[in-house]
Amino acid sequence: MNDERLLSVSDAWDPHVHVDGNLVRASKDVRNLLASTFGLVADLPAEVETGCGRRVAFAATSPHPERVTCLLCREYAGEQHRQFADQLESLFGMSPGAGVAPGLSVSAEDAAKAVALHRDIARRFAGDG
Ligand SMILES: [Zn+2]
Repeated sequence: MNDERLLSVSDAWDPHVHVDGNLVRASKDVRNLLASTFGLVADLPAEVETGCGRRVAFAATSPHPERVTCLLCREYAGEQHRQFADQLESLFGMSPGAGVAPGLSVSAEDAAKAVALHRDIARRFAGDG
């Protein structure tokens, strides 16, 4: 990681709202889902690396597509949410006819909701919906 580059760009005045580069961590629904499934809860940091490679205060980021004004971050977030939906889908074994993976305490319905949610967010970041 090139910290010097990150520091220099964070000094510049930046009017844009970005996304947390690790935006899946920032999603409350996903945090709850992972917490209930695997017992994992990550603390939110004060400063984060954004989807476009800057380092900004966590407060200068948003998980809401309607609020993110940085175009690179919008592209990044749309792609991340789309990929995450795909990962969730395979994680929970939602291929046609299959049930939820054994040992997981998340219902197929909850998992399907999470997948649909992330696909929806991805569409909103992409600007068509
Ligand atoms: Zn950005």
